[in-house]
This record gives sequence, structure tokens and C-alpha cells, in this order.
Amino acid sequence: MDEITDLPHKIKSAAASLARSQYAIAFTGAGISTPSGIPDFRSPGVGLWAHGEPPRAGTIQGFAADPEGFYEWFHPLLKRILSAEPNPGHRALATLEAEGILKALITQNADLLHQRAGSRSVIEVHGTLAHLTCIRCYCIAPGPPILKRFLRDREVPRCQSCGGVMKPNVILAGEQLVSGVMTEARRLAQECDVILVAGTSLPGGPASELPEIAVEKGARLIIINRTPTPLDQEAEVIIHGDVAEVLPAIVNELQRSA
Ligand SMILES: [Zn+2]
Repeated sequence: MDEITDLPHKIKSAAASLARSQYAIAFTGAGISTPSGIPDFRSPGVGLWAHGEPPRAGTIQGFAADPEGFYEWFHPLLKRILSAEPNPGHRALATLEAEGILKALITQNADLLHQRAGSRSVIEVHGTLAHLTCIRCYCIAPGPPILKRFLRDREVPRCQSCGGVMKPNVILAGEQLVSGVMTEARRLAQECDVILVAGTSLPGGPASELPEIAVEKGARLIIINRTPTPLDQEAEVIIHGDVAEVLPAIVNELQRSA
């Protein structure tokens, strides 16, 4: 059967696998947010941050040396992120959690669209725009209001108590992932019985190893991504399609057969 005629069957299989899971988790990447108009910045080398060759402004070294340069580089990207809306793929994952099927969602995205769609148990392995941290006194402030102000006035966000530069809590290229967050993500990968991978081609790096850990521990793997991934061979169900169409179809199938 080819990919097209086989699709309803694959959606049924994915729904059935999720329905009989005890502890399903999801793992998402840039591809879940591209239907919301946020480009996969890996190609121009941002990743957001983890892979590829970012311009120096987008690295942790670049930020430390020249915060103004970082914020100038970040401005157009941030504008797209903050004006984006969650898409049906995000909403389908939030529904799966609300219905008790998904126990947690690990994402490589920092764009907050999963939370805005209603997902509650979200582990952000590449950091988050939810907060900024002062690089001098380490105090933490909520991200969105400060970042929206920056979009308007283009002034580098400063700490209210000490005047230091505020850095978004996203993991920049060259920066280590937060070990506590990765420990939690690895624990989930080890304990799940189904891992639903959506919108990531698993390009490598510490976060990409999570689905592999799950599979090694015996979890069933469902992959929904436009392009092939290195783990396609290991998948119980593999759908090369648009996450914003396929994920809602899986939710419909689950609700129909419940
Ligand atoms: Zn400070």
C-alpha cells in the first residue's frame, strides 16, 4: 500500500496504540510550530539554537560579548513567535492530555504554543521564553510582558533591581541543556510505554536521544513528521505527513472508537 491509501489504517493503528497505553508521552520539535508560521530556523542555522551553525549573535558567546547584537538578531524571530497562534496539532496534543492519554509532553520548542493550546505537563528541553534571567544578579522575571515591550521599543531588557541585562531562558547555541530538565525528560522516556514523536526529524544532540531511550526500554514508537527520521525503522507507526492534520485525525479516531 502506498502512503496515501494507507493513511486511514495508520491513523487507526496510532489511535489504538495510544488507547491501550498506560503511560504515553509526546516529544515535539520545530515541525509542530511551522504550521503556526514559525519557520524551522535550523536551516539558517539557529535551531532555535541547538544545531546547525548559528550566527555569532545567536550563540551564548555572542550574547555574553554583545547583548545588543543578540537582541537585534532576535527581534524578527521573536516577532514571529509572539504573533503566532497554536495550530490544530498543538490543540490535539492538549486534548490527548486532557483525556488522560498523554501523561507529559517533552518539547524542543521555546515558543510557549503548547501551553497556550492548553497542554499543562510540558518539559521544555531547549528552554523557554516564559522567563528571563538577569545575567548579573540571576533574578528571574516573566518573559512575555518584557519581550513584548522589547518588540515595541527595541531596548535591551534590563533587570529592575540591578540594571543587568536580562537573557531569555532559551538554550542558545553553545550553551548546555539544563541538567535537571534533561534528567526529568530522560526519566519520562525510560518510564513511558508509548512515545509519540511529532514534528521533529531527530537531527541528533542530547534531546534527540530521548525517543531512542524510550525504544530501548521497550516503548512503542509513533512518528509523525514530514521527512524521514533515523528512528523510522524502529517505529510501530510512521506517518510522513502534516502534524496539523494527522494529530487531529488521531484524536478524532480515538474519540470515535471510545
Ligand atoms: Zn539583576
